[in-house]
Amino acid sequence: MAAILGGGLGGLSTGYYLLKNNISNNNNLKLFLLEATDYCGGWIKSIKTKDYIFEQGPRTIRPRGAIGLNTLNMLQDLGLSEHIAAIKPDHPAARNRMIYVNNTLYSLPSSLKGVFQKNEPFSKPLIYAAFNDLKQPQKELKDDSIYNFVERRFGKEIADYAISPMICGICAGDAKEISVKFLMKTLFEYEQNYGGVIKGVVKSMLKGKNEESLELSELAKRAQEEKWSIYTIKGGLETFPAAMKQYLKDNNVDLYLNTKVEEIDFVDSSMVRLKKTNGESMTATHIYSSVPSHILSKLVIKQHPQLSELLSEIPFVTVGIVNLYFASDKPLIEPAFGFLVPPIENSPILGVVFDSCCIPDQKGTVLTVMLGGRWFNEKFGADVTKERLYEIAMKEIKSILKIQDKVAAFNVSILNKCIPQYVIGHYDRVNRIREYIQNKNLPISLVGSSYDGVGINDVIYSAKTQVERDVTK
Ligand SMILES: Cc1cc2nc3c(=O)[nH]c(=O)nc-3n(C[C@H](O)[C@H](O)[C@H](O)COP(=O)(O)OP(=O)(O)OC[C@H]3O[C@@H](n4cnc5c(N)ncnc54)[C@H](O)[C@@H]3O)c2cc1C
Repeated sequence: MAAILGGGLGGLSTGYYLLKNNISNNNNLKLFLLEATDYCGGWIKSIKTKDYIFEQGPRTIRPRGAIGLNTLNMLQDLGLSEHIAAIKPDHPAARNRMIYVNNTLYSLPSSLKGVFQKNEPFSKPLIYAAFNDLKQPQKELKDDSIYNFVERRFGKEIADYAISPMICGICAGDAKEISVKFLMKTLFEYEQNYGGVIKGVVKSMLKGKNEESLELSELAKRAQEEKWSIYTIKGGLETFPAAMKQYLKDNNVDLYLNTKVEEIDFVDSSMVRLKKTNGESMTATHIYSSVPSHILSKLVIKQHPQLSELLSEIPFVTVGIVNLYFASDKPLIEPAFGFLVPPIENSPILGVVFDSCCIPDQKGTVLTVMLGGRWFNEKFGADVTKERLYEIAMKEIKSILKIQDKVAAFNVSILNKCIPQYVIGHYDRVNRIREYIQNKNLPISLVGSSYDGVGINDVIYSAKTQVERDVTK
């Protein structure tokens, strides 16, 4: 019996790859999944009506690179090819991404030409950042914050107006705390190995590419040929975990919903006891934990306090999500992906996504306001109500987007500790966690967004890697 702990994307993908690798058939191994709630999909949640879709968690997926193509392979295999809504490079959601600075919305350059022009709020054309990188000396470091790295190589304006809001958009975090390896591992290595980013790019071009080979599905090939920027799923992203759940059910994985695990007891190297809230236990020969690291930390504390402590050191942030629907036929926003607010603006909001531009089949105007993240407690306090977040979001929408229409429908969610923060030293910490598990011969593998990447593609790829590693052991 192998157990999967947690039925979010990480747990469901683990089930998918265990089945694909024929683990259950070859080893005559029964698979079961334990999920604390009555829902499979974790943070992926869509509210669908005939007029609009409110995404409470993720909404878009990137198709690029091996990990992006891997997700497309999975989507085709699950029969979801026809549900994909691609956003191609000429779509406004791909071309127009804005930042809100000094009470003004500015579009970020989206073409090579734009890099040579002066674009406010930047005081010089972005090409000057490249000269800065060539001039700056190398600084030898093991890790650094992404803000420090970008400021050092490309200048303060790029760090403040391009990277800091991007980090807010990806992980609701503070670029001054997040590890450079989170987004710019290769660029950081160029600095460390070659003395600068541009120097590293030139040297690696001379060396030639070393691309990982991955067999591509028709869907992945289409995404490459048509150069998709991002994509979403018609009918809401929830369609994705729903298809995965069905795949697991069809292949005889036992799904136990409303089953919260309270404690993990490692009996020996091939037996684990999972204690449930109702006092009963289940046993397994191996577990794949996809629950967030701060939860796993509590489950192992009795037997492995050192492991528990390492797991508890990965910080998480809380995000407020306010989805808004305006029924008017006339467009209330310009066509764009939306805008982000750099932290130096000290705004109560992180940014706004223009869903009616990115997600197909929506009537009227649909917006999602994101609030808090790294600054949730200091801005709103831990006990803030949904009503208060709604008021704040509406005030900002009216002031920034000049929308005076009445809201026809809305939803507010407070997603407690929903995004892990890969702060400086994260990757060393994860190595130490996995080393501990290996040294103690504990029958547990770690998957989910706490360890190997916070996005959908990362979580799926991490599940694939962990399962394949176990198969070849
Ligand atoms: C607001 C928001 C927006 C995002 N936007 C994007 C985006 O646009 N694109 C993108 O690529 N990514 C995005 N992400 C990231 C993406 O949603 C996550 O990477 C992914 O959903 C994480 O899945 P997971 O399985 O690791 O974790 P989770 O979704 O947290 O799943 C963990 C599961 O474990 C269960 N569980 C917890 N404790 C127990 C227990 N004791 N016993 C049993 N079960 C338990 C939980 O109920 C949950 O179902 C976003 C995330 C958030 C929060």
